[in-house]
Amino acid sequence: MRLLVQKFGGTSVESKESRRHVIRKIKEALEQRYKVLVVVSALGRKPNPYATDTLVEMVDPPKTKNEKRELDLLMSVGEIISSTVLANELRREQIKAVALTGAQAGLITTDDYTEAKIKQVKPKRIQQEFKSNDVVVVAGFQGRTEKGEITTIGRGGSDTSAAAFAASLKASYIDIFTDVNGIMTADPRLVKSAQPIDVVTYTEICNLAYQGAKVIHPRAVEIAMQAEVPIRIRSTYSKDFGTLITTSRPSTFGVDIPDRLVTGIAHMDRISQVKVLQKEDDVISQAKVFATMAEANISVDFINVSPTEITFTVPNEIADYAAELLRDLNYTVSVTKDCAKVSAVGAGMTGIPGVAAKITKALTDVGVKVLQSADSHTTIWVLVKQSEMNKAVNALHEAFELNKVNHKKQV
Ligand code: ADP
Ligand code: ASP
Ligand code: MG
Repeated sequence: MRLLVQKFGGTSVESKESRRHVIRKIKEALEQRYKVLVVVSALGRKPNPYATDTLVEMVDPPKTKNEKRELDLLMSVGEIISSTVLANELRREQIKAVALTGAQAGLITTDDYTEAKIKQVKPKRIQQEFKSNDVVVVAGFQGRTEKGEITTIGRGGSDTSAAAFAASLKASYIDIFTDVNGIMTADPRLVKSAQPIDVVTYTEICNLAYQGAKVIHPRAVEIAMQAEVPIRIRSTYSKDFGTLITTSRPSTFGVDIPDRLVTGIAHMDRISQVKVLQKEDDVISQAKVFATMAEANISVDFINVSPTEITFTVPNEIADYAAELLRDLNYTVSVTKDCAKVSAVGAGMTGIPGVAAKITKALTDVGVKVLQSADSHTTIWVLVKQSEMNKAVNALHEAFELNKVNHKKQV
């Protein structure tokens, strides 16, 4: 069976009009003699009544495990609605289609409600449905525990559902359909001159995605990479080829991937910087600070440790709680809220001198203050005030001439 997995995001399935474009994409795949596993997100974005953010706000923020379990029940409804509505519209077009929840489709997860991890996919039911259907529409972002409790797998998780089904069913491709023409050198909502990228490695896009380029979920990229299923990111509304995510092996698809110094600029906002003063000769501080955060299930990022100070970032919503826990242990703590992490990502920067200097100069030239910085061989991160994020992203995009590079190659 030649199988294609097509995932359609919230904006693509939002209205009857947008779903006409979705149906056209499905028809094109059927014309190419594929069976199609369609994975859908919930309808639209807030204030759409069935969008995930709208559903989440109908109940209090969950505190207990049971409240998280119930929130998963509530959130799962969004994707169930979109899958049944789309399957119905496909049948109206004489296409043999059926809708399944994530649980019915065999997506088995842990019981970490709201952030469940995929344990396995049991593809039997899907395979059975393909005997009498050409399209199986599955509700993304959700699964079930071994015991049958409904779970969700973390925000933006429909991409990950699509990758898990594609890996398990050995699909030819995963097509992620969204509202942009593929992966671009920066978020086009922030950078008007952002350019589309035609081919990118799993590793590069994984780095970009982990740093906030939400065009695809990083877990989806990891799963596809392990299973060696290529991903294409494309627009629901155009015929553009979009972005192909694959390995760097030139023989695989006859495409070589150039080593770019910087592939793209990603950003992540609404984070807070927490600074903890270290007392002199207090060698156990560091371990104690991080152990306290871990015990409270707070995941910290952007860690810098010096003899006098421990600095890290957390999401805005939990910054006060994190500071309170540390003050209870008699630490002197300061919190800078509303910061943003801006990252320059590129496999080609390995061993190339002067990249950090270029970043610092570009930001200083436009008057952006760097609150913290760090680097690895593929990424350089800077922390700035959120109010300066837009300026910073645009300055770095320009400094690396990403607006001038023609990333489009004929394939
Ligand atoms: P969907 O609902 O289809 O899953 P998302 O909102 O999750 O869509 O992701 C698509 C959005 O990702 C785009 O509208 C774009 O604003 C944003 N985005 C962020 N970084 C990038 C990037 N580097 N390239 C393309 N889009 C990006
Ligand atoms: N609807 C879910 C969310 O908004 C999952 C997704 O869209 O991927 O996070
Ligand atoms: Mg998404």
